[in-house]
Amino acid sequence: MKKTLLLLFLPLWGLLAQESHTLKLKPSNFHEVAHEVFYSDSEWTNGNYAFLGISAYSFAKNPFELDIRFKTKDGWQEWQAMDDQHNEEDIKDRQTFVLNPFEEQILAWEIHSSDLPQSDLVMRFFTAPKENSQALQLDFSSISDPESCSCPRPPVCDRTCWCPDGTCPPPTYDNTTPTHLIVHHSAGFTNATDYQYVVAYYWDLHVNTNGWSDIGYNWLIDPNGVVYEGRGSGHSGAHFSCMNSGTLGFCVIGDYRTNPVQSAALQSLAEILLYEGCQNSINLADSSLHTSSQLMLRHISGHRDGNSASVGCPKGTLCPGQVLYDKLDSLALALSQNACMLSQEDYTFDQSLKLFPNPATEILHWEGNGLWTKPEIRDLSGRTILTNSISENSLDVSDLAAGIYFLSLQHEGHRQTFKFWIQ
Ligand SMILES: [Zn+2]
Repeated sequence: MKKTLLLLFLPLWGLLAQESHTLKLKPSNFHEVAHEVFYSDSEWTNGNYAFLGISAYSFAKNPFELDIRFKTKDGWQEWQAMDDQHNEEDIKDRQTFVLNPFEEQILAWEIHSSDLPQSDLVMRFFTAPKENSQALQLDFSSISDPESCSCPRPPVCDRTCWCPDGTCPPPTYDNTTPTHLIVHHSAGFTNATDYQYVVAYYWDLHVNTNGWSDIGYNWLIDPNGVVYEGRGSGHSGAHFSCMNSGTLGFCVIGDYRTNPVQSAALQSLAEILLYEGCQNSINLADSSLHTSSQLMLRHISGHRDGNSASVGCPKGTLCPGQVLYDKLDSLALALSQNACMLSQEDYTFDQSLKLFPNPATEILHWEGNGLWTKPEIRDLSGRTILTNSISENSLDVSDLAAGIYFLSLQHEGHRQTFKFWIQ
């Protein structure tokens, strides 16, 4: 008869801020209780978190599967299998396991292993605080100062913004010259709040559970359109089925197998793709041989486009989800026709037109060659917002809630649109 291995453990730490905890279980910690259900009346004492992420890893040589179940206020829930296929880029003989993070409060948990791990099993718990203390401190520095090409980098939440306590230090990076931009989805957190904690969770999962040097992606975009700096520009990532050389990874946070992609997220994805395309002279609507996968790939490809490689470590991913994947070709075509990607001679976009201050709080001004009039402000859903014009080149925006908006202006029949932020 097959033995069932059960373990019950009750974390007792208190939760005040974003935290991660590690629990090392030795083989001797496991109890053999064949075909019995193991209960506890002890309590998980933490209470309050926005979400809880549970993952695990082991260097055990024997393969095993993990199931987990939770006790909630309604009693013990069904057993769930922990996903051991999520991580294509397993390193150093690790077996890794992860469960989709959840918001439900738990009182106790229990795991079941299909075989006794012959080495320590490390359980990892990440909790995001429920109360968000303050607004994101975004870096706007390159918006009004495009570097070597005309497409500015959108404002980003950099590492000091999503990990302000400094516990997520960057590693020494391997550089890469990107030829292909690979789009992902995160397959979770479609409707979260406080996405900086989601980014911090992915960092923690990738570094402390998977054993990578840093968060796998170069850039992440949340459904509200905020761009987060992961490994940033020019650094090799861990995202494309062990064929990362020559690529950058762009992860739209959320699950886009069937969910629609928010227009704000698409807009920001477009901006950061344009920025990297421009910086690296990549023709975004073209294809070419990607050396490390030995595949002909479109310059904007989805993670799943690497599935057919006979090298690397593809496991047949669906990433970035059918809904997002279906948008990539039209996005590439639109971006290849964007004024930012045209040569300077063809460049018709009025670079002299500037919007300031951005982010704004009270008054939004603009200035350019000639008179730009008929201002229209739209919110992320495309709804037109009425505001008071206070002069021919400024608007009172003090009534607008904090967030992302678009201002379009007209000059001699030509309209130009800006994204701006209210803080
Ligand atoms: Zn992916």
